[in-house]
Amino acid sequence: MRNVSVRISDGRIEEIGALHPIPKDDVIDCQHRLLIPGLVNTHTHLAMTLFRGYADDLELRDWLEKKIWPLEKKLSGKMCHDGALLASLEMTRTGTTCLADMYFHMEDVAKAVDRSGLRGFLSYGIIDPRDESGREHERNNTLALLKHIASMNSPRIKFMVGPHAPYTCGEEILLWSRELAEKEDALIHIHIAETRGEQVSFEKDKKQRVVDYLDKIGFLYDGVLAAHSVWLTKSEVTLLGKRGVRVAHCPVSNMKLAGGGVAPLPEMWESGVSVGLGTDGPASNNSLDMFDTMKICALIHKSYRWDPTIANAQRVFDMATIDGAKCLDMEKEIGSVEVGKRADLALLNLKDPNLIPIHAKETVVSDLVYSANGSNVDTTIVDGKALMLHRKPTLLDPETIAESVSRSVSQLISS
Ligand SMILES: [Zn+2]
Repeated sequence: MRNVSVRISDGRIEEIGALHPIPKDDVIDCQHRLLIPGLVNTHTHLAMTLFRGYADDLELRDWLEKKIWPLEKKLSGKMCHDGALLASLEMTRTGTTCLADMYFHMEDVAKAVDRSGLRGFLSYGIIDPRDESGREHERNNTLALLKHIASMNSPRIKFMVGPHAPYTCGEEILLWSRELAEKEDALIHIHIAETRGEQVSFEKDKKQRVVDYLDKIGFLYDGVLAAHSVWLTKSEVTLLGKRGVRVAHCPVSNMKLAGGGVAPLPEMWESGVSVGLGTDGPASNNSLDMFDTMKICALIHKSYRWDPTIANAQRVFDMATIDGAKCLDMEKEIGSVEVGKRADLALLNLKDPNLIPIHAKETVVSDLVYSANGSNVDTTIVDGKALMLHRKPTLLDPETIAESVSRSVSQLISS
């Protein structure tokens, strides 16, 4: 639609059409701007902004064991808070309005996301130490986050249960997670089949493939959001579809860490799996710009299948918006610009040189996926509130965040 206005009231889209401001209206000038639904990032680790650029071009195991895990042990709540604020600022500046995060010190992350004004689905990443007292500790951390989020009483911050992965969590924790998720009416956020190596060692150990195993123990159901899901057979993909499992596809991280293969995206669609897009953490991307992820998603599947019609612009844009919303059970609230939905929106500046020309309204979605980038975002709105207005963040102060992040990073590296 061209030359229309959107009226927002109480955080929702009230009217779309040829409207005139009424007294007391706050008016955002949208001339030469393109209005899109805010982008939904279905898998990330916000606080890992602290590790951005710290360890690149390494084998996955070396990357984790020699670089990331030793630093993660030294993280404090304050550091995670600072890292999450930086990530939230980057998301705000690049048009993301909703995210699903999994990490540690999540109460501090929750505070940061709430302060930023973004919408967040937050989970504590449970790593099962395989002994009862360790498991108790992980369960308590999860329950503490649940309690903390309930006490925040913020309609934008939601709890998820986060067993890290089937290779880091035993059956008992996986089933406890499912039980808790059902009891609390929450979703489960988990990494599944991220790499070829993970499937191979899982098969060696358990004598079955990972999705078959998860189904056999009764873990798979329509409340599971599975990040990655790359190294899967067709029958595993069919099973995900049958059980209603949703997938957070993270093509940039998968390519950078070179875990092997390309996620079977067309097969997931055929099997009826809802697939959203995720950046994954900034240590393995290194950007949180969803425009970047959309473009790379479209390109990798075309290149891999020798077929330029696969993962077309509309499908990929849907993954970053309405399908991402479906992955989080939010499709009735966000993911499109429609009367009655929450006003989670982004405006792009059509005067930016990389967005000129716009040939027709039919080509706009191609421009969004192939030509745009996060710096074209002029204004970002969540629940009707501008978190960035004409490139100026309204709630977060970039300079203060940069200073506290650099303090946190020097503390981390020197300790
Ligand atoms: Zn991840």
